[in-house]
Amino acid sequence: MQCGRDVLLRSHFTRLLRQTPTFYLKAARKLQRAKVTVESTSGVVEQFDGKLQEQAFERVDEKLRTFVADVQATTSLRLGCIPGCGKCCLSTTVESTPWECIPMAKELIRRGTAEQVLEQLDVASAARQGEPTRCIFYEPNGRLEDGKGRCSMYETRPLICRLFGFAAFRAKDATLDVTTCKVMRSEIPETVAATHAVVKSGRVDVPVYVDEWSELHGPVLGSRMAKIMPINEAFAEALKDQLWRHYLKSLDTDGVEDPVSEV
Ligand code: SF4
Ligand code: SF4
Repeated sequence: MQCGRDVLLRSHFTRLLRQTPTFYLKAARKLQRAKVTVESTSGVVEQFDGKLQEQAFERVDEKLRTFVADVQATTSLRLGCIPGCGKCCLSTTVESTPWECIPMAKELIRRGTAEQVLEQLDVASAARQGEPTRCIFYEPNGRLEDGKGRCSMYETRPLICRLFGFAAFRAKDATLDVTTCKVMRSEIPETVAATHAVVKSGRVDVPVYVDEWSELHGPVLGSRMAKIMPINEAFAEALKDQLWRHYLKSLDTDGVEDPVSEV
């Protein structure tokens, strides 16, 4: 038996498939693969349930807490974002991968707003005509240009959003340095300078962006899930993926229906 939500999802995808022939072909192939997954209940479904990402995010958050605490213990200065600041989210060059955005997509499905957000992303994508736009989850607090605001998906935000302004990179000589942001450099220059010094001296452990990224994407390296793209596109890809899986899981597996055949 299918509930009203399944009918809604079916109608949503039927419309998407009709509107975009390329997506239709890709989706049909994906459907064939996913049907096998649903019927065999193999580990593939579990791999895409967002748990790997959630575990990685917890690990990264813990490393960041330890890093900030160690900097404070060593320098007596506390590295952190400027209260109320959300300036980095205003950038139109933030990039992510669909894989990083799966926990966010799952959360939107749980809230019942996934289809609405996907429509919003489709509209934003059509309007931008190839030009990148700022993240749709940024909520400005007052005037946009102030750079004050918040992330409406903070708990499930992607890896890049967790590490921006705090993670380290490896210099050519293999030493580590930290990538603090412009706002921190201008508002808390003393803290930033002290942080650079302790990281370079090797006295504190700091998460290295490329290492965390590689570990997180290990299971999907080489696939489109690990493709780096503008953040709104990554959200859209993750949402399409998760909506398909949600829809397929909701079908009666005794007689799996094929929505593509109905188009
Ligand atoms: S990383 Fe920098 S720009 Fe982004 S919110 Fe923190 S202080 Fe603001
Ligand atoms: S997901 Fe949140 S933290 Fe990341 S760019 Fe968007 S608004 Fe900013």
